[in-house]
Amino acid sequence: MRLLIAEDDPLLADGLKRTLEANGFAVDHAPDGNSADHMASSQTYDLIILDLGLPGLDGFSVLKRLRRRAGGSSTTPVLVLTARTGLDDRVKGLNLGADDYLPKPFALPELEARVRALVRRGKFGASPQLQHGRLRFDTIGRRASVDDQPLELSAREVSMLETLLLSVGRVVSKEQLAEQLTGWGEVVGTNAIEVYIHRLRKKLETAGISVRTVRGLGYLLEKPGSGS
Ligand code: CA
Repeated sequence: MRLLIAEDDPLLADGLKRTLEANGFAVDHAPDGNSADHMASSQTYDLIILDLGLPGLDGFSVLKRLRRRAGGSSTTPVLVLTARTGLDDRVKGLNLGADDYLPKPFALPELEARVRALVRRGKFGASPQLQHGRLRFDTIGRRASVDDQPLELSAREVSMLETLLLSVGRVVSKEQLAEQLTGWGEVVGTNAIEVYIHRLRKKLETAGISVRTVRGLGYLLEKPGSGS
């Protein structure tokens, strides 16, 4: 899950980035409207958190451009943040295609809850649970269980499992997995991905679920019942 935070207040941006990273998201930060517009057009995000009062291009314009791209078919959820509390701004933001609206100041747990709800809606539709054989993954609490027994996973393992579960039956490359784990400009090597996959695979073995290595391509969770 990859998020973009467009926010010019460095303290707030840093706090948000750290909180969301601790929740297992890969987070990129744009400090002004033009870089937000550029990043949103060159990368697909699972969610954009957009401050309205940005230097350069303002948040409304970033939103307008985002929704206009791809013939208006962009479905990236957008959570608008703003110090402006006027009803006009709220209505304007929602008319331009924002999915939710959070006035500043806000409590971090509330932001986290809204981020989860929006990402879930965009990614999973109505169902918050992913079932794969005996494994169940709760996309709200980001917890995995096997036969209703909780499975202990690190934040990175959760993130990789989620990516694999969303691509059941398709090969996921190491680069795609690495991308889910890193922020803009940071690098997680493919060696590290091999280590995480090794650990995840051991934990999933007990549930009779195998993560197949497709040599030279990446990893694959097979559809349940399709053999190994
Ligand atoms: Ca601002």
